[in-house]
Amino acid sequence: MADYYETLEIPRTATQDEIKKAYRKNALRYHPDKNPGDATAEVKFKEISEAYEVLSDEKKRQVYDRHGKAGLGGMGAGASAGNRGYSSMDEALRTFMGAFGGGGAGADSIFENFFGGGFSGQSESGRMVRQGSSKRVNISLNFEEAAKGTDKELAITNLAHCDECHGVGAASADGIKKCSRCGGSGQMFEQRGFFSMSTTCSQCHGEGQVVTNPCKKCRGQGLIKEKQQVKVHIPAGVDSGMRLKMSGYGDAGQGGGPNGDLYIFITVEPHNIFEREGDDILLDLPISFSEAALGCKKEVPSLLSHSCRLTIPESTQSGKVFRIKGEGFPNVHGQGKGDLLVKIFVETPSKLSEKQKELLRELSTLENPANMPKQKGFLDKIKDLFS
Ligand SMILES: [Zn+2]
Ligand SMILES: [Zn+2]
Repeated sequence: MADYYETLEIPRTATQDEIKKAYRKNALRYHPDKNPGDATAEVKFKEISEAYEVLSDEKKRQVYDRHGKAGLGGMGAGASAGNRGYSSMDEALRTFMGAFGGGGAGADSIFENFFGGGFSGQSESGRMVRQGSSKRVNISLNFEEAAKGTDKELAITNLAHCDECHGVGAASADGIKKCSRCGGSGQMFEQRGFFSMSTTCSQCHGEGQVVTNPCKKCRGQGLIKEKQQVKVHIPAGVDSGMRLKMSGYGDAGQGGGPNGDLYIFITVEPHNIFEREGDDILLDLPISFSEAALGCKKEVPSLLSHSCRLTIPESTQSGKVFRIKGEGFPNVHGQGKGDLLVKIFVETPSKLSEKQKELLRELSTLENPANMPKQKGFLDKIKDLFS
């Protein structure tokens, strides 16, 4: 077997930090979970674990520097390593666990941490570090609230740190012990040929530690349910399907992990006369035939200014859209305002009085094709169908 320093590819003057870094890099590369069935990787993994075990311990390192492997003969746990190399993968894996946070999370969480997975891992003290759960709250707004923005107070129930034990879960400082079954790693390892199987320790459920004197208030959980009032400002211009994130307003983290977040999902209820299209507001405006023909002025309801005046010129057709600038929704990103789009709908009168009918009959005798250019064009187009 090569020199320990060469094995870890570091100079003899390497600091503990550099030793640890070099070991982590190599251990992740040759870890049996990453190289299933690869005997060379297995040997390499054992070698670097052995090198690390000696060099990471300053006492053993001094002995090794002076006397080489032979000198390590009488040094307790390291002795076996010095004499015959790591005999089992178990020892190598234990070293691996030890190097990733002083007592070890399971391999899964280590890889997650290293390769950008989730938010669980392990602190330097060996405790499991977990981000609290995030919460979802649905809120429903009416059109006015969505257009003008509003403040809401939400009642949520979060898991918060127990104030009795400060989130530790133990009633006293010595009320928490390293798990005796897994030695604090939270995982049980079993060697099957080249494979190392790991399962979550059943005694500590992967925590690596056991609360022997649990806090009475939280029953050892470190967390208690707490009703909280959260004030949230809903900005003007929000729309259905948007969500607001309030960082840190979810469940409390464990082992010094960050809190979860609070997500507020927005639904805007439909309005009885307005419709929304992006930042614009659509409104159907019914007017009479004579108003459309002669032109008129109309008070149009508006969400933002209560009402607006709209001048409808003579000969306005059904379906014509008038745009009133700046009377739509404010853009939620602060980029101006939408418009109010008023669509004209000419209503045919019903339940006419005799007098009205009489006048309309008289009017119809005066109608001529020049008054109805569309109708004339239409009749010209279909003429051929009936000839
Ligand atoms: Zn355990
Ligand atoms: Zn407590």
